[in-house]
Amino acid sequence: MKKKIIAVALTAIVALGSLVGCGSSSNGSTGDALIVGTNAAFPPFEYVGDDGKPDGFDIALIKAIGEKAGMEVQIQDMEFDSLVSSIGNKIDVAIAGMTVTEERKKTVDFSDSYYEAVQDVIVPKGSAIATADDLKGLKIGVQLGTTGEFIADEIEGAEISAYNKAVDAVNDLNNGRVDCVIVDKNPAEVFGAQFPDQVDVIPGTNFDFEPENYAIALPKGNTELAEKINTALKELKEDGTYDALVKKYIEE
Ligand code: GLN
Repeated sequence: MKKKIIAVALTAIVALGSLVGCGSSSNGSTGDALIVGTNAAFPPFEYVGDDGKPDGFDIALIKAIGEKAGMEVQIQDMEFDSLVSSIGNKIDVAIAGMTVTEERKKTVDFSDSYYEAVQDVIVPKGSAIATADDLKGLKIGVQLGTTGEFIADEIEGAEISAYNKAVDAVNDLNNGRVDCVIVDKNPAEVFGAQFPDQVDVIPGTNFDFEPENYAIALPKGNTELAEKINTALKELKEDGTYDALVKKYIEE
């Protein structure tokens, strides 16, 4: 009996393995599925829609890219921190409001940038936190593995709490467990609107944070796929689709 269960389980694992292998070995070059990793907890770029499926600017953008390039896009929701290492095995590419960094470039390539952002600071309403000096020695909430965490790591005396979801950092700000949260400006604005009586959002430029560029993370060295994606992105910018998506998801 036990043996039989193991045999069934093994068959299932092998079947699953071949399925996963099939998806992730596709690179879009033959018009088959493009498995796209994201972390649907980063509004307005990606979140879980009313139908329970990932939605948002990035999701709409990558689907439009897939349509232009003749690739069927399949979205896979996962933790942000595991996206880069999953490219080339579990997923083909990742779109997740991901900032181009030199460190990430050691592992993956990036498409042309599609959005400029900066880290903002969410503080308790009426807080006196206003400049870079004010951040020293604070308890800072961030999302694990993000540029917000990398910035916080550099702040003198800061005590960092890293969460899988940015909203959990904001919840801990509201509970008084952290003094502020460093997160990308658009999600920061969404959280600011979600908790208008509890928080203020201070622009990252007040803290001299550098601008960041979002791009799609790609398997290293796959120039064919990079070209397909960059060409589609360029066409979407030229034909007005990109602007319409910005209007719909970011500026609405
Ligand atoms: N832009 C940030 C980064 O790349 C955060 C992205 C995210 O949390 N989805 O690290």
